[in-house]
Amino acid sequence: MEFKELPPVKEQLMKCVRCGKCRSVCPVFSEIGNETVAPRGHVFMVQMLRDGIVAPEQKVYDHLTNCLMCETCSVNCPSGIDIHELNAAARSYIYEHNPNLAKDLIFDTMWTNPAYLKNVVRMIWGAQASGAQSLGRKLGLTKLLPGDMPKAEKILTDIPWRSARSQLPAVSPAIGKKKFTVGYFLGCATDLLNPEVAKATVAVLTRNGCEVVIPPGTKCCGLPQIANGKMSTAQRLAIDNIEAFQKYDFDYIITDCASCSSALAVKNMELLLGTTEYREQARAFSAKVMDLTYFLIHVLDIHPPANDKAPRVRVTYHDPCHLANAQGIKDEPRELLRRIPGVELVEMKDANRCCGGSGTFSLTHYDLSMQILDKKMENIGATGADLVATCCPSCMMQLRHGVSRQGLHARLVHPVQLLSQAYEDQD
Ligand code: SF4
Ligand code: SF4
Repeated sequence: MEFKELPPVKEQLMKCVRCGKCRSVCPVFSEIGNETVAPRGHVFMVQMLRDGIVAPEQKVYDHLTNCLMCETCSVNCPSGIDIHELNAAARSYIYEHNPNLAKDLIFDTMWTNPAYLKNVVRMIWGAQASGAQSLGRKLGLTKLLPGDMPKAEKILTDIPWRSARSQLPAVSPAIGKKKFTVGYFLGCATDLLNPEVAKATVAVLTRNGCEVVIPPGTKCCGLPQIANGKMSTAQRLAIDNIEAFQKYDFDYIITDCASCSSALAVKNMELLLGTTEYREQARAFSAKVMDLTYFLIHVLDIHPPANDKAPRVRVTYHDPCHLANAQGIKDEPRELLRRIPGVELVEMKDANRCCGGSGTFSLTHYDLSMQILDKKMENIGATGADLVATCCPSCMMQLRHGVSRQGLHARLVHPVQLLSQAYEDQD
């Protein structure tokens, strides 16, 4: 569909009253303080693009990518403008006029093919395990990598050798009486970087009466592609994922990754496929998608048994933007943590403020990302927490890097890992 005809561009631009509320909450604006990187500036820029006042050039793209896609502006806009959607649409429009071979290889070829992606992660694991990564760093070889990768490769630490998919069966039967058949959307980052989270998810769901199926043929949720100007690739991925899950009759489609659930939710699917022949299939698919913590609280209403001997741990919770802003899910992860024996939940200041990771943002805008991260880490450090819980693998990776930058001792976990551990302690 033509850029001008895209629903957010066509219907929302005229709603901006230039009030500046979005600017006052934007983490990037608060670091840079320049109107061109403010959400209001982005809205203005998209309008000029639509009207042909500015050309779809790389420098406009670069301005627009000074944005975490955290959606803080969108949820605070009194006119209800989906500013991040306007930004995403504009990035794709500009990218079409300025294609880039390296980016095509990464986002169209590697990231859309689970086997390629797995091999790339294996190569990084091999480099880490053999010391080649640090040797490469010393010799300056990492400087050959594109964008801010030479600096950002430090974020990719301790990559596990075995993916979750290679350790989990395709079908895990319910323990005891079966309540639901659940399709588990195992996102790339959980699969390849945090297999322990996936194992905990399956353990907790099966223990609570769910048969868990991991359909073969699922692909990336498409969020990295949207953030990198590849809306048409994200559309293709969405269709592939819908088709992979349509083969089953699931009661729910569950994911433990905030980015995946936001990408698969109704709103984003509407953006990708709302004007296509896949609209109804996308709606039926999204209607079943649910964040894991929401499912555990509202559908299964889990209550792990009390345990007076459970060790006391101070846990603070960081809200992933894709859960809190994109889906309004803030209470459920906290409620889940409160229900786990031994957990003392300590709130950090500005828990709902972006950590600066935002998928690939820390890889493309490393210095800015670190400025935002350092503020988050100050707030985490002030809690004195032993554990930092969050529901997004990208936030986990970024916060883990923050912990190491600041010399803290806190460990990163997904709430489901603590829950799974609590059940194991009872066995
Ligand atoms: S908050 Fe909304 S209406 Fe106000 S300037 Fe920002 S985009 Fe425009
Ligand atoms: S999405 Fe986040 S970073 Fe981007 S303009 Fe909005 S508030 Fe700023």
